[in-house]
Amino acid sequence: MKTYKIAVIAGDGIGPEVTGAAVEVLEKAGQLEGFGFEFTSCDAGGCAIDKYGIPLPEATLDACRASDAVLLGAVGGPKWDNVEPSLRPERALLGLRSGLGLYSNLRPAIMFKELAAASPVKNVDTMDILIVRELTGGIYFGKHGRSDSVETLSDGSVKGMTAYDTEEYSTAEITRILKEGFRYAQGRSKKLTLVDKANVLESSRLWREIASSMAPEYPDVTLDYLYVDNCSMQLIHRPSSFDVIVTSNMFGDILSDEAGMITGSIGMLPSASLGAPGTPGMYEPVHGSAPDIAGTGKANPIATILSASMLLRWSLGETAASDRIEKAVRDTLADGFRTVDIAASESDKIVDTAGMTAAVIERI
Ligand code: NAD
Repeated sequence: MKTYKIAVIAGDGIGPEVTGAAVEVLEKAGQLEGFGFEFTSCDAGGCAIDKYGIPLPEATLDACRASDAVLLGAVGGPKWDNVEPSLRPERALLGLRSGLGLYSNLRPAIMFKELAAASPVKNVDTMDILIVRELTGGIYFGKHGRSDSVETLSDGSVKGMTAYDTEEYSTAEITRILKEGFRYAQGRSKKLTLVDKANVLESSRLWREIASSMAPEYPDVTLDYLYVDNCSMQLIHRPSSFDVIVTSNMFGDILSDEAGMITGSIGMLPSASLGAPGTPGMYEPVHGSAPDIAGTGKANPIATILSASMLLRWSLGETAASDRIEKAVRDTLADGFRTVDIAASESDKIVDTAGMTAAVIERI
């Protein structure tokens, strides 16, 4: 029987609860489709600080590199809020991204019609957006620093301390993420929207030039462009008209949270971070470690279960198993099962983390 190696980083807070749920779901889907898993449990985040004094032990990175894919819960919590910045639990995420060469972040935002009442936006019937965010370049990684300036402003005041962060992108970085965008659009409804700020930013103009020069290689995909400010309005105004959005690191960070919220709850949103073909991808819910509900059974496991489904599809090529899980989640919601974060009506069957997991597994 084929066996896949998965590194599981449960992390902190609700991380162990939701990754535990996803592991059970993976095992069930694998059993039905004729393959198995070898799970390796690894430490990262606050729990690693407690054990080893650092958020990302080398052994964790090694185990991830030796795996077919990585499943991550979440890291961080108030216990570690005051540790030195270079040792914060979240540093583990940056270390994993750079250590595994993960440059593309996929964040699907799907509106399940059963959860329409939980959406803060009125009258959204359908929405199925895939945001492809560049993950390792742009303003978060460009030159930043501070300098003193004695120049004067128009009102006569002296500039003084100046801080700067630089948005910088190379042709190679833009090309590789656009390729991903075109490829995902080809596999969906063949519409790709490049979101930028090309009316102001030189880096955005380079994105546009490269995108338009690549478009003839993908004649089946319709490419359009949208300024990021307009996109943030259109996501609320006409969310169902979007398909694949490709964008820079910071714009993707902001827009994916906005699109995600339209779907109703952060507890529903999966994500994948991928690098070069053949290298292990990392799959995790969009939410954090939710220390306020850790250990109460209130954590919605669906974001992590859907992340596991993405893992099967994108890293293992096990589309039938992935389809099974997605259908099971839809059926579970259609049958009225809700964790408290997505409950909206009196007829809902309120369940805890274990109850939701059992309901999904039953429907797989
Ligand atoms: P959070 O996502 O953990 O929680 C925000 C709110 O959403 C909370 O009220 C929480 O109870 C709720 N929530 C989150 N996930 C849920 C789920 N699955 N089911 C039901 N409700 C859920 O964000 P936060 O409170 O800002 O951060 C808490 C900690 O997590 C911080 O230490 C932060 O740095 C860390 N964090 C980690 C990651 C990550 O590991 N990728 C991402 C974001 C935040």
